Amino acid sequence: MFAALSATNEAILRATSEDELHQKVCDAAVFGGKLLGAGLLLAEPGDQLKFVAGAGTGVEALRSAICSTDGDSDEGQGLAASAFRACRPFVTDDYINDESLRRWRGAAMRIGIRSAAAVPIKRQGSCIGAMLFYLDQPNALSDEIIRLLERMAENVGFALDHFERERARERMARMFAALSAANEAIIRAKTREELCDLVCAAAVLGDRSIFNHISLVEPGGGFLRVVAAGGVAKANEIGARTPICDSEEENRSLGEIAFKSGRFSVSNDYLADPRLTRFRERLRVLGVRSATAIPLIKDGKSFGLFFVQSTHIGAFTAELISLLQRLADNVSFALSNFDQADEKARADQQIKYLATHDSLTQLPNRAMYSQLLHFAIEAARRYDRRFAVLFIDLDRFKIINDSLGHEAGDALLVEVARRLRHGVRASDVVARLGGDEFVVILNEAADIDGIERAAGGLLDVLSQPLQLNGHECHTTASIGIAVYPTDGADEQTLTKNADIAMYHAKEDGKNRFRFCSSEAKTRSIETLTLETALRHALERNQFALHYQPKVDMASGDITGVEALLRWTHPDLGVVPPAHFIPLAEETGLIVPIGRWVLNEACAQNMAWQRHGLRPISMAVNLSPRQFADELLLRDVDEALAASGMPAVLLQLEVTESMVMRNVPRAVKMLDAIRSRGIRLAIDDFGTGYSSMSLMKHFPIDTIKIDRSFVRDLETNPEDQAIAQAIISMGRALGMTVVAEGVETIEQRAFLRDHACDEIQGYLFSKPVPPQQLADLLGSAPAAASPPLQPELVTRSEAPVSRDPAPL
Ligand code: C2E
Ligand code: MG
Ligand code: MG
Repeated sequence: MFAALSATNEAILRATSEDELHQKVCDAAVFGGKLLGAGLLLAEPGDQLKFVAGAGTGVEALRSAICSTDGDSDEGQGLAASAFRACRPFVTDDYINDESLRRWRGAAMRIGIRSAAAVPIKRQGSCIGAMLFYLDQPNALSDEIIRLLERMAENVGFALDHFERERARERMARMFAALSAANEAIIRAKTREELCDLVCAAAVLGDRSIFNHISLVEPGGGFLRVVAAGGVAKANEIGARTPICDSEEENRSLGEIAFKSGRFSVSNDYLADPRLTRFRERLRVLGVRSATAIPLIKDGKSFGLFFVQSTHIGAFTAELISLLQRLADNVSFALSNFDQADEKARADQQIKYLATHDSLTQLPNRAMYSQLLHFAIEAARRYDRRFAVLFIDLDRFKIINDSLGHEAGDALLVEVARRLRHGVRASDVVARLGGDEFVVILNEAADIDGIERAAGGLLDVLSQPLQLNGHECHTTASIGIAVYPTDGADEQTLTKNADIAMYHAKEDGKNRFRFCSSEAKTRSIETLTLETALRHALERNQFALHYQPKVDMASGDITGVEALLRWTHPDLGVVPPAHFIPLAEETGLIVPIGRWVLNEACAQNMAWQRHGLRPISMAVNLSPRQFADELLLRDVDEALAASGMPAVLLQLEVTESMVMRNVPRAVKMLDAIRSRGIRLAIDDFGTGYSSMSLMKHFPIDTIKIDRSFVRDLETNPEDQAIAQAIISMGRALGMTVVAEGVETIEQRAFLRDHACDEIQGYLFSKPVPPQQLADLLGSAPAAASPPLQPELVTRSEAPVSRDPAPL
């Protein structure tokens, strides 16, 4: 027996797992102590003593024997069960004749068992099972031997404790790994969402063997809602929620308990927990056996929780929970840091808002207005548009303020702000400069009529009566208007001129608007004098055409010219097209004027040819009114017929907005033009609203990059990108790309580098009278070639890519 004891001790030292330990101990006892057999039984849930290992004769019989811990059952009367229950050795010196064991007598006789002993296996003071030893001799078990067997079982219990400690240590190590992974995630996370996701993922990854699921839960609207999750349990996917119940006793969830109490809640045997009946069935299906909820605490109150599930019974030891609490603390801390950062961002935004808005009316203040005006100027400059600044001052504000008090005055200002805001489009700007001074930026003020309508509308809404302190009040306002660019090209000038105009409106009797004097002058002269003058311009022969050459980028040859209208008035002098073309358009005079331009341009081109110059392409601009005119095709045909100019030498320039206005009609019109062999160009490309994808439906030969993109080409990366995009789109569609307004060598270099086909601009030549153009043509390199050769019609007129050479 001493040999057996020392053999089992050795086995204990060498065993690497509990199963191995059990088996080795039995083996050592049987062979060392020359016993007939030995078995090891452990208590299991459900009153069972389970046979876990055995050695020697009769092991098979032991393995199948049913052994109960229940003292009232027949199966609970054996030696092992008695030793387990009483937690002391039980011995029989004559098994065959022992009445208490007669139930097993048959088996004992078959195996040859004559005496037997069972000793308890204890761990930390409580009995967890028993070892059973039997011998083939009666009376073979002295007290001394029993004591030796007891010591053997003690050592087994000790070894099992050791294993348990090892496992706990390992689990803690894994938990630490999980915790540090989660902490790392906390440090790395850039947003709340990322933090929650990373922490959950890291915690589960760190210890999959314990957690099968961890989720972060937050309250909201009477529910606890999963906001992040890691692991496998489908029941707690993100978005899943459970109502926070009022019931205090039954049917609660661990989350609810923890959330309400602010302390962790745990259930180490979920299915048996009487508190948690609500989710029992679902968790049983999912295999969840224990769970814990750890609240996230800030300022002593829970604002969320971790919910951790395990498939093991008893997974959540005190140590594990304290680790999870640390994780929860870290997460709470990190989350409140995010909150603070959010708060700071909100505060910054608030400060910025306060700095740029008037606190009474919530309108942009003077500083913001200045900035918005700056943007408006930038945009208008780029797209050659105008817009208006309306300076608005209330007419009787001081009287109201003095008689009804400041509060009433404030209420009035708020109401005026509201009315102004509702009186203009959302894209317009309404700002308060201070006191009773407001300002409106009317974007897209295309014509004076539109501005007048807008200003009149504002006077109207402002003059509606309103109730102040129970008094019905009537206020009116005076409005001064300055128009960009006529009345100023910078913020100060525009605002100042609008302000001055406002004073004129007051002087004129208030409750009215006045344009700034220069605009008023332009308006009167341009609409009255100019209009009459324009009506006579044709018959009085005041128009002339100048011609500006377009040059091939590669060869430097003149490929064609653009006819540009000039009006010389005896009193007004030379009126630039920008001043009179819009008026001609507005009045419809552009149709007869345009007809004249067509005839003149074609005739001039043929005149050059008759003088021995080579045929070149002649570009003529069309206005919207002309393009919409039913008789345009007739006019064009007549101009060609009258001059004898081949249709292929004519190029008509249209703008994006003209063709976009009515696409089906435009396509029909352009096709009709194109079918005559006449070429088509899109002028001022990039300033309109055409979609690039629509361009391919139009029979366009040439596309002209607007001057506004060329002007700052050397310095403005945005312009560079736009120019590049237009060039590549044009090339992809087989069009000739011309850059307008090229003034510098640097612009030309950029355009050449980016494969622009042709350039037009002051760099090569300004628009010049016919004779000067003839000189240019005569001195240009290509003039050395024989004249009047159709092959010499330049590239843009005979594109290789679109259709066969037309001549
Ligand atoms: P557009 O058709 O885009 O003509 C180009 C304009 O840019 C011309 O202005 C030309 O003188 C100018 N330009 C050319 N190269 C440069 C340059 O390097 N730098 C600068 N700063 N400007 C350059 P213009 O002659 O004042 O004509 C202005 C606009 O009036 C034309 O723009 C065109 O839309 C319209 N227009 C001119 N003649 C006619 C016409 O006969 N009929 C119609 N409907 N419109 C015309
Ligand atoms: Mg043009
Ligand atoms: Mg242009």
